[in-house]
Amino acid sequence: MSMRFLKYRSLIVSVLGMLLSSCSSSPNASSVDFKQAAKPQLSVVIDAGHGGKDPGASYFNNNEKDLNLIFARKLQQRLKAKNIRVWMTRTDDTFVPLKERIELANKLDVDLFVSLHMNANPSNGVSGTEVYYPRETMIGLFAHWPAMIARSEIHSRTPDTRFSLWDLISHQNRHASYEYAQETCRQFRLQLDATCKEKKAGFVVLRESQVPALLLEMGYLSNHSDATKLVDPAYQDRAVDAIVNSILRALRVSS
Ligand SMILES: [Zn+2]
Repeated sequence: MSMRFLKYRSLIVSVLGMLLSSCSSSPNASSVDFKQAAKPQLSVVIDAGHGGKDPGASYFNNNEKDLNLIFARKLQQRLKAKNIRVWMTRTDDTFVPLKERIELANKLDVDLFVSLHMNANPSNGVSGTEVYYPRETMIGLFAHWPAMIARSEIHSRTPDTRFSLWDLISHQNRHASYEYAQETCRQFRLQLDATCKEKKAGFVVLRESQVPALLLEMGYLSNHSDATKLVDPAYQDRAVDAIVNSILRALRVSS
């Protein structure tokens, strides 16, 4: 079973207990409808950015959407070989709306969502890898709550309780995402001698995520040196190795 799920669940149980015990009209915490089934395997959703009518960045005769898919397929193979369950948001040159991509990860309640992209900048001197993780969010009017939270918990509590619960859920995922981002950059520096920065962002696939989520900008297609590496199959393999190592370490699976 996922370490994330265990920590997540026990923390929510204890905080809900505290919240509910301070509310005289509340039933006890056993009313929380947690998902019963244990996860048989660690699981990851890989998101090849862009696709179809949306090519992403285009420089030096390279379309970002095609390169993202090449990296995604390589990552899929390597993770499957490590006995990790993998879902892809797309497996061909198809346009998939952003919300559908992250909804797949939320619905499956995977251990990690990884979105793969290539960066671009009007200044062709800008280069390097960037790893984005979710910035703080507020509860939205139409927020989709995780399946592990019962409807009664969402609708019948005070706004304070709802906000505390939402903050707890998103805080857990943000913290895990930040740790994964740090590990990913560490592996890129270690294995590829790359410059790598961890950054907060409110991209749709990060903002709407209910699982730990990362968006990797693996390099700048607008930078000639980065672009040369990103289209090189040997570099692609080494970059995918770095991502796999970071995922395995972050999920605490021995490689
Ligand atoms: Zn992109």
